[in-house]
Order: sequence, then C-alpha cells, then structure tokens
Amino acid sequence: MSSEKTPLVFCELCVRQISGDAENVTTCSESFECQLCFGIMDQSMIDEVGEKVQEELQKLPYDSNSFILALNLPVGQTLREILVNRLRPDFNGTLVQVPHKVRNIDGYLKKLGSYSGKRPTLSSDLQLMITFEQDESDFTDLQFLQSAFPNDFRVGKRNRYSHQEAPTSCSKQQLQQVTGRINEQIARKYVFKSPTRKCTFSLQFERDPVFVAGRYCKYSRCLPQSPWSEDKDAPREPGNSVSEKVCDVLKKQFGASDSRFVTSGREDIDVRMLGNGRPFVVELRNCRITLPVRGLNYLETLKSVEETINAQKDIKINSLTRVPRELAEKLCVGEEDKRKQYCAYCYSILPISDEQFAAARSKIPLTIVQKTPVRVMKRRALLDRERTIFSMDFLKLDDHHFEVRLETQAGTYIKEFVHGDFGRTRPSLAELLHVENGEVDILELDVEKVDLEWPPKLKEGQPPVKFR
Ligand SMILES: [Zn+2]
Repeated sequence: MSSEKTPLVFCELCVRQISGDAENVTTCSESFECQLCFGIMDQSMIDEVGEKVQEELQKLPYDSNSFILALNLPVGQTLREILVNRLRPDFNGTLVQVPHKVRNIDGYLKKLGSYSGKRPTLSSDLQLMITFEQDESDFTDLQFLQSAFPNDFRVGKRNRYSHQEAPTSCSKQQLQQVTGRINEQIARKYVFKSPTRKCTFSLQFERDPVFVAGRYCKYSRCLPQSPWSEDKDAPREPGNSVSEKVCDVLKKQFGASDSRFVTSGREDIDVRMLGNGRPFVVELRNCRITLPVRGLNYLETLKSVEETINAQKDIKINSLTRVPRELAEKLCVGEEDKRKQYCAYCYSILPISDEQFAAARSKIPLTIVQKTPVRVMKRRALLDRERTIFSMDFLKLDDHHFEVRLETQAGTYIKEFVHGDFGRTRPSLAELLHVENGEVDILELDVEKVDLEWPPKLKEGQPPVKFR
C-alpha cells in the first residue's frame, strides 16, 4: 500500500486550521479554489453574506433580538471533509479535531451577529438558514460514490417505475448512510479538484408560528367559512369568508407571511353559526411582529384585535387568546366525540299532528346511517356513516311549519337527516314523522352550539401562560 500523501489545495485559513505544517498541501491564490471549504470560510464571503443579511432585515425587519443560525453546506463539502479525514491523519492544524460544520458556524456567528444587530443564540423563535451552493463536483462525486457503493447507489433503483431523470447529485441522507464505510482505500480513488468559481448562497428567515385560538359566530346565510368554498355556485368575493375576515386582520397585525385557519367542523354557506360560536385556531407563519403577543402582553393585544375583527359585519369572534402549539393541535383530536346542537326551521307539504311529533320524539336517542350525500358525492368518498341523534325537540309553528332542535354527534349531515336524501339517510326525520322522504325540508338552519371547551382553559387560580 502506498504511503504517499494525497496532494491537496487549501485556502490560507484551512491550512492554518486543518493541515497545519503537514506537507503536500498547496495554498491557493483564490479562496474559492480551496478543495475543502470552497471559500465559504473566507472573510470576504462572510462579509458578503452579512451585508445581504443586513439588507434583507432592513427591507423586512423582525422584532426579535436574537436568532438561531443554521448553515446548509454543499454536500460535496461534507464528502471532502470525510475524505480528508481518512487520507491525511498527519494534519495538525489548530481546529483539525473540530467538525467542519461547527468550524463554519463559528466563523459566521459573530460576524452575522453584528451585521444583523441580533444576538446569535441556541434558542430563539427566529431562525436564519443560509444555503450555500457549489455544484461543480456534484456529478463526479455521485459517480465516485456509485462505483464505491454500487448497492447503495444502484442506478435507476428509485426511478425504475417513474419517468424522472436519473439523479445528478447525491443527497445528504445518502452520503450519511455510507459515511462509516468510506475507508482510506476507497478515499484514495477520489480525485480532488478545485472549484473554478465562488459558491452562491441564499438566505431564509423563518420564525416559529404563533397560534391564536378563539370561537366565531356567523350571522349571514351567504358567507362561506373559507374562500375555498365547496359550493361552486357561491359568489366568490375576495375577503368574504369567515377565515379571511379573521385571518387577514391577524396577518396584518403581526406581519405574518401566511396563515392557516383550522376549525372544529364547518357549516354550509347558508347555515348560521350562533351561540358561543365554533372553535377555531389560526396558525400565523413567519410573523415579523410578535412583541405585542409576548409575555403577558398578548391578553391586551388580542382584546383589541378582537374588536377590530368584530367591527366587520356578519361575524363576531370571542375568547381570542394565544395558545402553545401542543394545545392548538388538540382542536381536531377526538372530532367524532363532540356534540353539536342545531335549530332547523322546516316546512312540510302535509300537515303534521302533535301525535306524529310525539312518535318521532319517542325514538330518541337514535342511531342513523348516512350514505355520502348526493350534494357532496363528487368530492367525498362513498361510505356509510353511523351517527347518533341525542335529542330532538319540536316547536310547531303552524300546520306546515315547525322548528326542530337537534343535538347530534359531530359530522351528522343535518339537511340530509331531515329530508332523507332520496333514502340515503335512514331513518330520516321525514320517515320518523311518517311522511315521504322529501316531503319535509329545511328552510333555514343554524348551528347553536359546538360542545367543546375552547380555547382550552388553565386551571383555576393559575396565572396565564407567558409567551416567549
Ligand atoms: Zn478553505
């Protein structure tokens, strides 16, 4: 076995920190030619990144005084770190024992701290990710790994059934899988080349989402819950949905780039949501302003946000509060166990007697089976669903009109339960009243109560949560 040392070309910094006074290492004139760091560690590169960070923050500032730094280094650089390690045990630079990633982070951390005016920490809700790219050797690196580990990099292994192009680079995960098996003998087959140009880089700031929970009431019969209304005939007016009326105000207030409106169930566009409202939670992503909802400030801030939202017509929200992610995620858990109360204003073609109402009522509690309703068949899977009707009370208004108050298991299709949906819901209210399916129908429907403790309450006497 040859004991000849693989010749390498390093930048001045890598010579000092990695190779030390070992022989067979040449110093390059341009730092990007460094076969180990690709010039990423060069002061001019760090300054260039720092200036870009400063520029971005001036354009769109975040009111955070700290940040976490994450570097996404080229995969080729990780590979070279491993190879150099195997090939040159004679290296004795000052940081030769320090992992490459740590060396990079250290190089950037302090400088970026001063450029950004923010403190680099290990725990912040703001993350700065810098992605460096230098793809000149990607394909030859992949070929090297393919020939060293044919079983791990079988050509076409993943693409046999798809028409995707063959891969031109190796992923970090793939490299990680074989790292332990790259020995000196394999490493010797690698041909080190210097990059011919500088790395490129991109920045991405990402802030932990803020979750705001509350309940909404809807007083209009032509306001959809979301702009992605399933009702094709519904007029689409930008801003005219419950989710937009709530989210737009929040997004603006906290400079969020995006939001997600999650609710406990949904009502049709022509159904009002009354009582204490339907539980919801808004996930606000990448907020630029969170100071007003940090500490205990959120209580006051959200009170005023609530007022702003409620100044719009057709909706009212209440109980707006900030919740941690774990609680926000509980909103949709156990959906089937929830109960909902409805009030339906109905019309019957034939007059209905008190005896008929009493007979229907005597069947409660009642289990019904609903086949997927005709009106949603196109977009929902066809299946039979069992649902429970827990209570049913009638108020006769005249021979042809009555109100029925229902308490049902969440997920019951109320309109279909009333008119029978061509026999697809059984038994239906029409059946229970001994009239034909379709002879009783809903004129107006309201949701009166969604049975869920929301927003989740802290135990009595506990102080409110403080948010970071
Ligand atoms: Zn270097």
